[in-house]
Amino acid sequence: MQSPILHKVPNTFPSIRDIRLYTLTPSESGPKLTGTDLHGSSMKGQRSISDFFHILDCLILAVNADGYKLQQLDDDHRPLAVPPIERSSAGNIAAGSYLIESTVEGGEIVQRWIPTFFDFLRAGTGSPSKPKAKKARHDGSGSTASEKLDRDPTDDSQSFKMRLINRDKGCVVCLAAGIQEFYEFREDSNRFEGARIIDVALNELWDTRGYSALVSDPFTDPTNADNPFASPTTRTKKDLRRINSLENGILLCPRHHKDYDHFRFAISPKTHKIFSFHPATIKLQGVKVKAPWDGQDVLYPPPHSEFLETHYSTSISRAMKGDGDDRELDDDDDDYEELEDYEELSEPEECQNEKVRIWLHDSLSGSEIMSSLDFTAENKGNIETSPLGIISV
Ligand SMILES: [Zn+2]
Repeated sequence: MQSPILHKVPNTFPSIRDIRLYTLTPSESGPKLTGTDLHGSSMKGQRSISDFFHILDCLILAVNADGYKLQQLDDDHRPLAVPPIERSSAGNIAAGSYLIESTVEGGEIVQRWIPTFFDFLRAGTGSPSKPKAKKARHDGSGSTASEKLDRDPTDDSQSFKMRLINRDKGCVVCLAAGIQEFYEFREDSNRFEGARIIDVALNELWDTRGYSALVSDPFTDPTNADNPFASPTTRTKKDLRRINSLENGILLCPRHHKDYDHFRFAISPKTHKIFSFHPATIKLQGVKVKAPWDGQDVLYPPPHSEFLETHYSTSISRAMKGDGDDRELDDDDDDYEELEDYEELSEPEECQNEKVRIWLHDSLSGSEIMSSLDFTAENKGNIETSPLGIISV
């Protein structure tokens, strides 16, 4: 029997990111409709307008105006004859194309800079992490066994998980959602995982930002090195990083661990409410993680708000910027490769570390640049040209 001829398996699935955002930029022939690098998701029609504005508020800012609005565009990128969407508008946002406009004439829309896990990769050639990332990839072997052991000793992971079990009692997301997934029996270990908010693969980010100084977990405190119950590498005085501290941990079930690592949801650092970034987690939207994080047990401290904040803003950036590929950050052999993938999704190097800069409307790879359209004041009201910038807030 003749073997079948193999062919490339098609991936015909649509992108989750069904919202394209545009803006107006100046040109000699008048304001030009221009694609931005922001691509949102209607979450299959389940994203509320207020939540969409919440995300946008993290990414853009109206200058010389009290806000911004969204004008829906048709397939030819001309304004639809419908009122613009404002933050007070009721209902959900629909898939489609939208023009971001200032609420008043003369206002400017600028893009905010938000911190993410991957900013440190943009620090230029001076970054110690970048050569290592490329080296590991070019070696074809990822991180070496000794490097992995240095970053995440197995005994430390077990200690970390057991302490999380004592603090969280079960998957905090399942429990918040009313799914009674408690850690009940000694044999329940494989039903739960100790998730790190800042992954061990980001150890250099951890060091650069001085996160060790933010943790107080007594089990990883070097002053307790002589205590037999301290974390293993704390006892051996090999771990000064303290990345396996409870302030950096959450107990999750494998599914929610995967979704958290994929940035399909995040937990608000201020309210501990879950914010969904994927239709698969939309039912968790607004659900609040409560106990045991409300307490301040010195033995089992809750997650640190700065770590939650960075994961939260990274999730927003991942949901709205770049090409939207769904990648995760695992502490496995591919982690450096994953980091490099993220680097490729980041902004071009020429715009790095500038406090205020022009939105890259004409050179940003991945953003759709519209040709000059007849988008003038005659057919679109009195819209003024709004130069866009990125501002560090
Ligand atoms: Zn769960």
